[in-house]
Formats: sequence, C-alpha cells, structure tokens
Amino acid sequence: MISFVQLESIKQFKVRQKEIPIPSIDEVLVEIKYVGICGSDLHVYHGSHPKVKPPAVLGHECTGIIYDGNEHFLENTPVAINPLIGCGVCKHCQAGEPNICVSRTVIGFQKEGGLSQVIAVPKNNILPLSEEFPLRTGVLYEPLAVVIHAAKQANLKKQQDVIITGAGTIGLLSGIYIQDNFDVTVSFIERDSKRIEFAESLGFHVYKQIDDVPMKTIQRPIFFECTGNLPLFKKILDYKPAAAEIIIVSTFEKELEIPIFALLPNETVIQGSQMYTEKDLKQALEILSTSKRYLYEEIVIKKDYSYHEVNTAYETVTNNNEKRVKAIINMEKGGRII
Ligand SMILES: [Zn+2]
Ligand SMILES: [Zn+2]
Repeated sequence: MISFVQLESIKQFKVRQKEIPIPSIDEVLVEIKYVGICGSDLHVYHGSHPKVKPPAVLGHECTGIIYDGNEHFLENTPVAINPLIGCGVCKHCQAGEPNICVSRTVIGFQKEGGLSQVIAVPKNNILPLSEEFPLRTGVLYEPLAVVIHAAKQANLKKQQDVIITGAGTIGLLSGIYIQDNFDVTVSFIERDSKRIEFAESLGFHVYKQIDDVPMKTIQRPIFFECTGNLPLFKKILDYKPAAAEIIIVSTFEKELEIPIFALLPNETVIQGSQMYTEKDLKQALEILSTSKRYLYEEIVIKKDYSYHEVNTAYETVTNNNEKRVKAIINMEKGGRII
C-alpha cells in the first residue's frame, strides 16, 4: 500500500492509501522522494486556477527513483519527471515543442502528480539523473526550466534594464538566472514587505511600485511579468519609456483586455512563455548539477515538510511565513510504502 495526498476541496488536503499503481506498457513506476510547491499549485489550492479544480493529486516538480526496474531503467535510478505530456503527433510535438501542443496534459494537474509515494510515468517523461544529483533542492529543475524558457523568449541586449514584477519563486529564479547569464541590470517590483526584504538579501534592487522605478534606461526595459496581477499589468503598459518587450511568465486568473493604443506607437512586444521544452529541462538539470546550484538553493525553505504536513506547507507559502519562498514536501517522511 502507498500513501497519497489528495486535494479534496479548496484548501483541504487529505492523506489516503491505495494499492501501488499498475503501469501501462509505456509507463514506469517512480517512487517519489521530493515535491516542490509551485505558484500554479497554489492557484488550484485556492480554487482560482482557470482550468484545474479539486479533487486532484498535485505535484509536477518531482524527483525520485525508479521503483520497478525494467528494460529501460534500472531499479533505484535517480530521476526527475518531465510533467508535460504532448499528443506526440501534432506539428508542435514533432518539432519538440509539446509545451504549445493544444492537446497537452500535465502530470500533477490533469494527471495524478507526485504527492503520491509511487506514480506511473510515461517512460519518455523520465529524466535520469546522476547519483550525485541533489534530489531535494533538485526539484527546482522545473521552475528553473520555466525561467530558462522565458529568458529565451526575450531579446536581452547588453546593459538592458530588466524589470521583474513579483519576487516569488519564478520571479526570484528569473532574477538569479538572468543576472548570472546575461550582462543586464535586474530590478524587481514587489509590494510584500517580507518578499522585499528577502529579494534585497539576495542582492536585488526592489521597488515597491512601478511608479518608483527611475527612468534612466539606455534601452527600453524588458519586463518579466511574474505576478498575474491585472492592474499591475496595465501599469506596465503605461510605463515610460515604453517597454520594449513584456514576457508573460505568470498565470492570469482572468482575461485581460489589451489597450492596443498603448502598444502601437512604441512597437511593444507582448510575448507569452508557456512552460518549457525537454531541452530547457535538461539545461536546468545541468545547472543544478554544478556548484551554480547554490545560487538557486537560496530560495528553498530549510524545513522539510512530511506528506502529513502538506496543508501547513501550503499555508506557509501562501502567507509568506518563512523568509524563503519555496517549500518542498518529503514523500518519505510520514510513513513508508508497505
Ligand atoms: Zn512548477
Ligand atoms: Zn501535440
């Protein structure tokens, strides 16, 4: 028997037991070790996700080991999971871009996720890791892949001003990644005083509101929108000098009306960024395999939450009760597989 944690209704997780799943011919069983809590998970938890509603077994940022050795993988091989399942046949999937496949599903949203001690995963979604890979903080591979993909959507030039709205997980990882890989100036817009303090402790310049950002740019700024906050988005459109590009990395709860006259005179580009490709995931895993990972691990809450403490972990992240922003559930802590 295994334990799994189901989001039964809004803000209500329950630990349940069931038999170990039986994998199909194209699947392998993964014993989940660690699961990261993501901003999109919080939307489901609060009932505000536009597509996914409880009941659901969440968890799309997961690392673990192969549970059942087979012809593809040896038992106990450490692995990360690519949660994105494309249809496999459309032109986007064929081009290696299942992130924009219209029939895509995601493990941890439409399909049972990692808040379960053992899950069946399509073998093509398994990313084998080295024995040295840190499985706990390594769950950052998934949000980091989001960030790497988003940065590829931007035309980042030398000495560009990059303004990131929102100093949560995606915002901070974006800041760390962009600062480390491009010759640009990164600053943040964030209202929450705890988050401001934390982003500043990481060395970032933080403005409380968009009107506080000084107009000093050599080139027009590029915004990375990581809040999903509509009033703030409208303010970005009004910002002077007009944004060269606005990269949308966040999930919006409601549809947005774009004031087209704000864009036309300045040729501002609004660019969506949707999850990642396998290449982005591998790039993220590569970074986290090196000593560079210490830059990113700074955002991870040190406390290890057992799978009985999922409600507490979600509340902690919701209320910013810890200085750090990323909570990780330990799926071994709480009871073993019987
Ligand atoms: Zn995520
Ligand atoms: Zn497809």
